[in-house]
Amino acid sequence: MLPLFKAYPQLKTKLPYVKLAELPTPVHKLNNLEKTLNAEQLYIKRDDISGLIYGGNKIRKLEFLLGDVLNQQSKRVLTFGFAGSNHALATTIYARSLGIRTTSMLMPQVNAHYVRRNLLTSYHYGADIHQHQTELTLLIHTAYQLVCYTLKEGRIPYIIAPGGSSPLGAIAYVNAAFELKEQILQGDIPEPDLIYLPLGTMGTAVGLLLGLKAVGLKTKVIGIRVVEAQFVNEKKIVRLFNRTNALLHSLDSNFPILKITENDLYIRDEFFGKGYGCFTESGMKAIAQINDDENISLDGTYTGKALAALIHDIDQKDIKHQAILFWNTYNSRNLLTAFAKEDFHQLPESFHHYFVDNVQLLDREQLLVR
Ligand SMILES: *Cc1c(COP(=O)(O)O)cnc(C)c1O
Repeated sequence: MLPLFKAYPQLKTKLPYVKLAELPTPVHKLNNLEKTLNAEQLYIKRDDISGLIYGGNKIRKLEFLLGDVLNQQSKRVLTFGFAGSNHALATTIYARSLGIRTTSMLMPQVNAHYVRRNLLTSYHYGADIHQHQTELTLLIHTAYQLVCYTLKEGRIPYIIAPGGSSPLGAIAYVNAAFELKEQILQGDIPEPDLIYLPLGTMGTAVGLLLGLKAVGLKTKVIGIRVVEAQFVNEKKIVRLFNRTNALLHSLDSNFPILKITENDLYIRDEFFGKGYGCFTESGMKAIAQINDDENISLDGTYTGKALAALIHDIDQKDIKHQAILFWNTYNSRNLLTAFAKEDFHQLPESFHHYFVDNVQLLDREQLLVR
């Protein structure tokens, strides 16, 4: 049973939930990277193996979101992301395992190998994918898709927020903090002083923060912003925190009302680079380092930037002696066989350029190194 449900049994009866993930995800020490960085207590939380087919941080959220879809007996979900969205792909894969179809409304991004792979894999798993150049045209076409599918399938599709970061989705990471607490009590890991993770739509970080407070851990969360600043700010954090907290409290009044203060979540901007999905030198170095030392694969859009911040801080700040937990939000399950069979010409034409044009320079160089 989920640790959150153990602590608040009423939530188990009230919250929508379908088991998709392999929980708890392991935590373990990074002995080699620790030596390289000259740190003392460096740990990793392996949400990269949170699912059997596909891992990463979206699987936990989908347990609640797709649980809700099942309760409402919807047969189609519609969600949003950038072209290479891990969230859109995770939604497609796990919705399909429940007999639910996915429509993904996507926005353009900088080209990378993983964009191609995620698009082809989404297609392989039956997603209906669309790309639009601006938020306005995306919204207009979303309204159009909703009408079309309602007429065609007799029901309006269930809308899943970008990144799955609605209050319901964020509850998954409240639970993840309860899970971490159990692992601390079992002696798998000391209470971390710091958690490092990327900030996208922030359901992961905000859910964790709420959960850490609820279980009484003093751990600080360091969030590395990897999307444009308009998507990550104090106001949004507080709003998602309070809405998620209110939802939990409304379903089980034993769940406390908690307060978020300014210093609870440290937002780090300086590892963002030139834009969303633009790999950075420091990110690629971090990826190579953990790959060499620990044989763990990170990505250039999210986790590489977060690890770059961690490495920077160990070098520059006085945190060598602290217990540091790197929360791996990326997938490390191998999707190769699924996408290799698909031909990009079967995708809508708006996606073809990702397969014709070069990937960004740092993605090419990385390939040469390997
Ligand atoms: C979506 C994603 C994130 C961001 O998580 P949010 O909850 O949206 O902040 C981080 N890492 C990876 C690999 C992701 O796919």
